[in-house]
Amino acid sequence: MVQKIALLGATGSIGRSTLDVVSLYPDRYEIYALTAGSRVDELVRLCAKWQPKMAVIADESRYAELAQKLLDAGLSHVTPMAGSAALCEIVSLPQVDVAVLAIVGAAGLAPTFAAAKAGKRLLLANKESVVCGGELLMRTVKACHAELLPVDSEHNAIFQCLASATPAARAGARLILTASGGPFRHRYDLENVTPAQACAHPNWSMGQKISVDSATLMNKGLEVIEASWLFGFTPDQIDVVVHPQSIIHSMVEYADGCVLAQMGTPDMKTPIAYSLGWPERLDGGSGRLDFTKMRDMTFEAPDLERFPQLAYAYETLRSGGAASIVLNAANEIAVEAFLKNKIGFLDIARTCRTMMDTYQPSAATTLEDILAIDLEARRRTREVIA
Ligand code: NAD
Ligand code: MG
Repeated sequence: MVQKIALLGATGSIGRSTLDVVSLYPDRYEIYALTAGSRVDELVRLCAKWQPKMAVIADESRYAELAQKLLDAGLSHVTPMAGSAALCEIVSLPQVDVAVLAIVGAAGLAPTFAAAKAGKRLLLANKESVVCGGELLMRTVKACHAELLPVDSEHNAIFQCLASATPAARAGARLILTASGGPFRHRYDLENVTPAQACAHPNWSMGQKISVDSATLMNKGLEVIEASWLFGFTPDQIDVVVHPQSIIHSMVEYADGCVLAQMGTPDMKTPIAYSLGWPERLDGGSGRLDFTKMRDMTFEAPDLERFPQLAYAYETLRSGGAASIVLNAANEIAVEAFLKNKIGFLDIARTCRTMMDTYQPSAATTLEDILAIDLEARRRTREVIA
């Protein structure tokens, strides 16, 4: 049976890697729907190549442009749609087997929940939705018999390292997330860092937002929260170690001191192929490790003085409630402002701190609560920045 895929965030870094993997298995997978945030031309180009049944542009003001450009390209058989509700609609269609959530930011929340409610196989790259709504999401996945496969490389590694663990073994285990350390591991004057410098990641090629998050270590902080919800581990059971070579993608240490690690080249096609094929293994076309050419694997503790946002993530996870939603929203708005040269690199952490100290909404129990807190946190963050 050919599996039909709805790929959300098709024009991004994870979206492109997903299409690379899918192109290797035309007899197994079909692209049923493609979506983009606002880049109509790129979406139409992908539609011409992949011939999906539907194309969604998230920015509703571009609907007419999308519809016209699909017609101009001879793609009248592709149904144009727009807006967040359309994203939720396509992941819920009975024809769709697999939803790939490769949207960046909390914009991925509603469609991620919609895919979970519809009981789909969810290939989840969008970590922000787990950070904001992890507890509710995991309950929804279970109640609706969805299959959640983490695409984030660390979580994909942990998923693999936990695969054979009994509940008792899991309970006594510790998760060790690896971090590359980002482009500023050896840089101490961070005040005047430019967006271009922050986006130049040493090992991974990624979208701009996650690249900046990697430079501040916010990415690792978001991943600690993500790991806690995905695997049911407390913050005390999760550690972070800087491993600049990005060969080990994360590890699990069991009660007997045995450590299982997952290794591979730093290429997102590997966790994407794993998640598509699970429980089988698919070759995603990424390179192979050559152990005879590997010079060293080193490890060090993260520097929480220079990169406090990692500590902030532990703090919001421990404090519970809606603190992680506020941290995530503050970070998204601050990173956007940094990328537009409106604030400095260190102002990203300062903005997050201010928001954590000044906005402490009570716990969110429904998706509507989560979305409302996210919206309010964004509004207040814009004020703080202004
Ligand atoms: P990207 O910026 O390259 O792509 C983002 C995609 O989301 C694009 O297709 C864009 O059009 C779409 N988009 C943006 N804003 C939107 C909105 N408001 N509504 C709907 N769609 C919108 O980002 P990326 O690097 O591919 O990352 C995507 C997600 O995957 C992020 O959550 C990121 O943290 C996670 N992730 C990425 C990597 C990586 O290597 N790139 C690794 C692990 C996890
Ligand atoms: Mg990651």
